[in-house]
Formats: sequence, C-alpha cells, structure tokens
Amino acid sequence: MTYNKIPADTISNEIADLFALAAKSGKEWGSSAHDKAKAALKDALIEAQGGRCVYCQRLIKKEIGHSEIDHILPKLQSGDQDKSNSNERANRRSTAGYPAFTFFPKNLALTCKRCNQRKGTFDARKRRDAPASTTYILEEDYYEWVHPHIQNYSDHIEMVEGFIFHAKEASPNGDNVITICGLSTIGAVERAAAELRIKNAENYAKALAMMLPHLDDYGWPYIIEAVQEHFKDIPSDEIAFTASIFEGGLKRGELTGR
Ligand SMILES: [Zn+2]
Repeated sequence: MTYNKIPADTISNEIADLFALAAKSGKEWGSSAHDKAKAALKDALIEAQGGRCVYCQRLIKKEIGHSEIDHILPKLQSGDQDKSNSNERANRRSTAGYPAFTFFPKNLALTCKRCNQRKGTFDARKRRDAPASTTYILEEDYYEWVHPHIQNYSDHIEMVEGFIFHAKEASPNGDNVITICGLSTIGAVERAAAELRIKNAENYAKALAMMLPHLDDYGWPYIIEAVQEHFKDIPSDEIAFTASIFEGGLKRGELTGR
C-alpha cells in the first residue's frame, strides 16, 4: 500500500468558509458552535485519507471516540517556555503554540485517538530557533514531521504487513512520527485486537470474513495462521481453501476489502 498526501481539493470552498467563520467567531476550539464545520471537515478527511489515521494508517471511524482532529502545529502554548525555541526532540512538547492556525483547515488532519494523544503538544516546526511565520507555510522544509497535507507518507515511512514501521532512508520526518506516536508498539496492539476478533467469531469462515477489511494490513499468511490457531479442529487446508474463495471474490469485486 502507498499512502499519499491529502489532495489539495479536499478542503472545499464550503469547508474553508465554515472555518473562516469559526476563526472569526472568537469561540474556542472546543465550542459546540464549530460542530458543523468539524463535521464537514471530518467527512472530507475520512474520504481523502482512505479511512485511515494519517500517522499509523490504521482504519478509523469518523465518530467521536474513534478519531480525533489533530492540530499539526499545536494550537496552544504549553510546557516550559524557556524550551519553546529549542530544536531538541525532548524539548518539543514545550511550545509557544500557534493559536493563529487553530482553524486553518490545512493544519488539521484526522487521526486515531492513540496517535493524537501521543503527539499531544509536540511542536514539529523544524527551526524553532527562528521566528514562526505569521502565514501558514505549506513547504516540506518547514517541518520535521510528515505533514499530511504536504508530504507523501510513503516517501518517509515504510510499513510492512502487520504494522511494522521503518523510516525510509533514515528520514528524520518519518523517524519523528514513528517515535512520537509510538508506532513501534502498534503491531502488538493490532495483533491482540485481531486475535480477539477471531476468537469472538462464531466459526472460522466468519473469522476470515471479519478479517477481510484488514487484509491489506495483515496479509493472508498471518490471517490464516491466526484463524488456525483458534479453530484448531478445522483442517488447515480447509481454512486455506475458504480463504482462496474469499480472495477470488475480492478479485471479482463481489466482496470488498474495506
Ligand atoms: Zn493513529
């Protein structure tokens, strides 16, 4: 799978207008006055992001509790302000904040709850020792981060089946996302979730079917092995044969992997 940046036309004129009004209102980000703007943005982003979190690429739902709108440049001042000009990774949770971009749609992306919480107030502006621009910069060089509106994820981060992440060619942008969002432990979290889904399935065919939306992430060998592990009395060639029927259905478009 290749993950690209969010297409520029994702932010429609309607969304831009809603957010311009929201910014003008003077009401804080959490106010319910912005619900309509946020809902329109979430609808557009979930589609543009292929239903995935921009940082860990796991499938997310747009409902509250399943996904969150991340401020790529953090909105509020936070932490020790003496460290807010430091370029050291360890000091980057201390930030002067970028309140001017709280309602700037291209400073916003949809993430899973886990990534948003781990990123927190992390400030990924590359040269924090220089004054911040008063206009929003949409150039790769301004960030030490995979900015989802500017950079293609797959140019910086390689993901192998089963959620193993590597920074491509030692990309510092990719490395920051992997480290700050704690992506090295996602694989274990997701495997435990997959095994729970399989365990709770009524039978092995339903377990296989339940894993179809996650096929791109795990691949058949892992899925078949995990299903076999739980439905031990079913011959392994029967499980593999049923998987091949599903695979054929996917290829003919009768089933959907999503
Ligand atoms: Zn995530």
